[in-house]
Amino acid sequence: MKCPKCEGLMYIERVSDFFIPFEVWNCINCGAIIDQTILENRAKSRPLFEPVGSQ
Ligand SMILES: [Zn+2]
Repeated sequence: MKCPKCEGLMYIERVSDFFIPFEVWNCINCGAIIDQTILENRAKSRPLFEPVGSQ
């Protein structure tokens, strides 16, 4: 897994959002965070909905 921003090395970190644990990718170089939801949305040609105002 390479960082899409800087192509730096990324590592998985397990975090929990309230009661739901999930894994996110962290870039050790620039600190970018990519979670599984983002990856799944990118994999689909037509995501059902996009988060608004997150970027
Ligand atoms: Zn990066």
